Amino acid sequence: MERDLKEKSLYVHAGPRGDKYTGAVNVPVYLTSTFDQEELPARKPYEYSRGQNPTREALEQAIARLEGGKYGFAFSSGMAAISTALCLFATGEHVLVTEDCYGGTYRILTKFFARYGVEFDFVDTTDLEQVKKAIKPNTRGIFVESPSNPLMRITDLAALSQLAREKGLITLIDNTFATPYLQKPLALGIDVVIHSATKYIGGHSDLLAGLIVVNDEQLARQIKLVQMAFGAVLSPFDSYLTLRGLKTLAIRMEQQQSNARELALWLRDRKKVKRVYYPGFSDHPGAEIHQRQARGPGAVITIDLGSEEEAIAFINSTSIPVIGPSLGGVETIITHPFSMSHAGIPAEIKNRLGITPGLVRISVGIEEVEDLKQNFSALDR
Ligand SMILES: *Cc1c(COP(=O)(O)O)cnc(C)c1O
Repeated sequence: MERDLKEKSLYVHAGPRGDKYTGAVNVPVYLTSTFDQEELPARKPYEYSRGQNPTREALEQAIARLEGGKYGFAFSSGMAAISTALCLFATGEHVLVTEDCYGGTYRILTKFFARYGVEFDFVDTTDLEQVKKAIKPNTRGIFVESPSNPLMRITDLAALSQLAREKGLITLIDNTFATPYLQKPLALGIDVVIHSATKYIGGHSDLLAGLIVVNDEQLARQIKLVQMAFGAVLSPFDSYLTLRGLKTLAIRMEQQQSNARELALWLRDRKKVKRVYYPGFSDHPGAEIHQRQARGPGAVITIDLGSEEEAIAFINSTSIPVIGPSLGGVETIITHPFSMSHAGIPAEIKNRLGITPGLVRISVGIEEVEDLKQNFSALDR
């Protein structure tokens, strides 16, 4: 396999080529739980699909390569991947978590990891002074999202990972919004990269999947153990679908991003829109940092319509987008973060973070922007 492909070519060729025996272009879906060892002692590379499956392995190799990492892991959902990564921390250890993290991350920390004595504090990771102040003697890790959800807040990943390194802490990022196409956190010094591949990587709203990539062998061993022991592995069929999604990630992201750019500018001039959160605007907080660490602003825009009433009225006035708690599909997807993606976070915390009931998150799809503008005409009334 050629080693020095350009970024877009890499998406097409990151995974292993089909199978040598038949010449099949695509990696077969190995629908098997166990692998016949024929005789003992066992010498076959595969034994049992919870441990490893060739279709899953193809995806794991592809995502590792795309993130510029050595070891990839695929899970049955983004939350399975996040839970697995959080298992790197033990009872009595302390983790700093970005205060506007995904609602599901907040939920497993407060409802489960807390029960097992993993300590955590939610901090504003966009402010390194606050992060520094929050580090305790038992702090072992920092978990971050950038751009964050839904306000697109930007954390300086290189500066954060440098601080973490000085203090001997592991850094983890939920890289779902940016995807490896726009942002490669390992190159910025982050240790553990996590994806909900349900979103852009899958790209067609037809599966749930989670991915982890690391470079460090010790971390890889720990993650592999949790993956195999807990068994929240991605099925062979969904591994195949995720691989299929990966191949078009670069061109989908380019199109969605260019649509989002145009739509964001248009949204800024609408009568009903109080504010547009989009890291592509030069006056967006942290835009300069984002530009330095990512290839582009992505394709998620959040608008503030001022009240829950206005937000719901707008959402219900549309007919093209899917209305649901997801993003990253080829179709435009509209979410009401307050009641959907961030339902797991108490209302008073959401309000303090600025995740207010008037927000509407738009994951811009590959449709013609003109169609979306026409469909969003309620914003002018
Ligand atoms: C959707 C999402 C998750 C959870 O992923 P699932 O595949 O739904 O389990 C985690 N983080 C972010 C940023 C997400 O958007």
